[in-house]
Amino acid sequence: MPNKTRGREKLVTCSSCGRTMPKDKSVKYSKMTVYSTELKTADDVKTTTYEDNRYCMSCAKHRRIFEKLKNKAIRTSEREKSAPRDRRLGESWNSGKRW
Ligand SMILES: [Zn+2]
Repeated sequence: MPNKTRGREKLVTCSSCGRTMPKDKSVKYSKMTVYSTELKTADDVKTTTYEDNRYCMSCAKHRRIFEKLKNKAIRTSEREKSAPRDRRLGESWNSGKRW
């Protein structure tokens, strides 16, 4: 939602249709691409690139960006629930054993 106290927002261009809109109105979606030679050996070369895209509302709706962002948020919350970041809280140094 546009915030009224920030003055004039910078304009960005939609990477799909080229429409110009304020930055806070755009939808940010970053996509990771993995390039690899897939030799399955020691000299397997693998690089990743992140592509940041900003879409306007209609393009985001058309390209189902909102569904993807929602699924991503659900996945990250489930991952955090199943495996908490600080593992030391769950297990002690001797992991419950007595001698
Ligand atoms: Zn667009």
